[in-house]
Amino acid sequence: MGLTLTVLGCSGSYPAPDVPCSGYLVRSDTTAVVLDMGHGAFAELQRHIDVADVDAVVLTHAHPDHWVDLTGMRILTHYGRGLDHVPVWGTDETRRMVATVSSGIEPAFRWHVLGPERTFAIGDLELRIERTDHYVETYAVRVTGPDGTSLLYSSDTGPGWSPAELGHDVDLALVESSYLDADELGDVLHLCADMAGAAARAAGARRLVLTHLVPGADPEAHARAAAAAYGGPVDVASPGAVYAL
Ligand SMILES: [Zn+2]
Repeated sequence: MGLTLTVLGCSGSYPAPDVPCSGYLVRSDTTAVVLDMGHGAFAELQRHIDVADVDAVVLTHAHPDHWVDLTGMRILTHYGRGLDHVPVWGTDETRRMVATVSSGIEPAFRWHVLGPERTFAIGDLELRIERTDHYVETYAVRVTGPDGTSLLYSSDTGPGWSPAELGHDVDLALVESSYLDADELGDVLHLCADMAGAAARAAGARRLVLTHLVPGADPEAHARAAAAAYGGPVDVASPGAVYAL
């Protein structure tokens, strides 16, 4: 079996009613990794997996909408279940923030600083990371399963990022589409829908799922604009959606 992607949350920058912030559960047959854990994502995570079966959490950058629910997970793992040294990958900036709001890192987490190693393994998954074009140190992630199926997650990025840095030919590209068009986007370091479509096309993605739409966005309009640039059908992430690669 290939990888499975479960969307835990996908709201851009702050949570919307019934839509948590960024969080994605990626599983092979034997390994489970959570990419990002923003506001509300830990609640959704508990619908899909026992916390003891999460092998690692990977936090792409220090913006709170991508990690703040790690604080809630720590209460359950450390105090509730006696599970310590949960492996977490995150930038040094993220580690400092988590330490501040969680009375330290150890023993609850075993922290691996994200960045120096551009390729690493978690269980039978291979992860490759590259910097994106964002306000803080941020990494896009490519996850490859034991059978070669792969997922590309853009995290947050401006138009200066190229998915080609993580290789071509991915089975599914999960790309941020914070704003509908260039007028809405302005000069902020995020993507609009046609930029997301172009990125997925550049990655040779067989499937495109848009995510991180800001609350109030029109998903169908995003999908239409992205599809024109991508050249294929486009999905928009929603909490609980499962994609089998
Ligand atoms: Zn961000």
